[in-house]
Amino acid sequence: MKGFPAVLENISDLSLIQIKALLSLTSDYKKKDKDLVESFYTGFRTPVIATSFLENSTRTKHSFAIAIQKLGGMYIDFNADTSSLKKGETLEETLLTLHHQGVDCCIIRTSVSNELAQFKENPPLKIINGGDGSNQHPTQALLDLFTMIGDLGDLNGKTMAIIGDCVHSRVTHSLVELLPQFGMKLILCGPEGYIPNSSESDSITHTDNRDEAIKQSDCIYLLRIQKERHQGTEDKHFATYHEKFGVSLDTLGKLDKEVFVYHPGPANIGVEISEDLIHSPLYRGYKQVENSTYMRMAIITAILTNRNISSQLELNGDDAKIKTGPKAL
Ligand code: ASP
Repeated sequence: MKGFPAVLENISDLSLIQIKALLSLTSDYKKKDKDLVESFYTGFRTPVIATSFLENSTRTKHSFAIAIQKLGGMYIDFNADTSSLKKGETLEETLLTLHHQGVDCCIIRTSVSNELAQFKENPPLKIINGGDGSNQHPTQALLDLFTMIGDLGDLNGKTMAIIGDCVHSRVTHSLVELLPQFGMKLILCGPEGYIPNSSESDSITHTDNRDEAIKQSDCIYLLRIQKERHQGTEDKHFATYHEKFGVSLDTLGKLDKEVFVYHPGPANIGVEISEDLIHSPLYRGYKQVENSTYMRMAIITAILTNRNISSQLELNGDDAKIKTGPKAL
């Protein structure tokens, strides 16, 4: 995609036009897929794409692996634990080595926030952030956006409560940059230490009142407690968390409306979400997983091509209505 960043680190690296084009291309791939092997790289050799996950992952890594193979790319699962990174090699040296072996793009997950920023000026190869510390998880937020538009239509004027450990959640940091661009208002809800100290704005407010947050919302987004990033007293909320901030069918039954529930996974059943809710039709986590492959196919296509993708977005409720016309300009 013309002007698409060589290093996709944060949502703010993308223009609104590029985000809309990604939505369009995602919809296109979703419609076409019957294990499509799409030659988006016609005239170019088969792209070689690696995942390098220096932190655990189930969903992100596998959906990228599937996306690469559906696009007909050559997939390399770079195993950091058995690599020279363990012998003291820097990430930059490793990426330069991959580049000289012919790798075009690497999807990196790291526990170090902002570690990928160093590559923006002179990228050794194309890089997609698969989650960096507590900083950002842009591909998750983009696939969430696609799923929400499919469920709710135009997001303009709609409100979503993000309930949980917002401060330590890289997904929240990406959603906060992304969704207000589509006119969505966000309520960040959680106990003390889980909600940012930053000031509130027209589109982002804070509360520690779960029921009030849900009442004001058209949909909700639940988060796992990010224990691996806690350094202070944040764990003290754990014992009472489900009662005060967990959501179950019972919590939602008090409302006079139905609200969809999103979750980036992995979910901790009995903590932020109940077993009955996760197995109910209101839970959209599996739809997010389903859409994740298509959004990641779109992102890989965009980062590897210099093609302009014209988009026409109809925000009216069905992701099949997000129209596209990929055109080589
Ligand atoms: N899977 C998401 C992430 O990698 C959310 C989580 O781990 O809670 O950030």
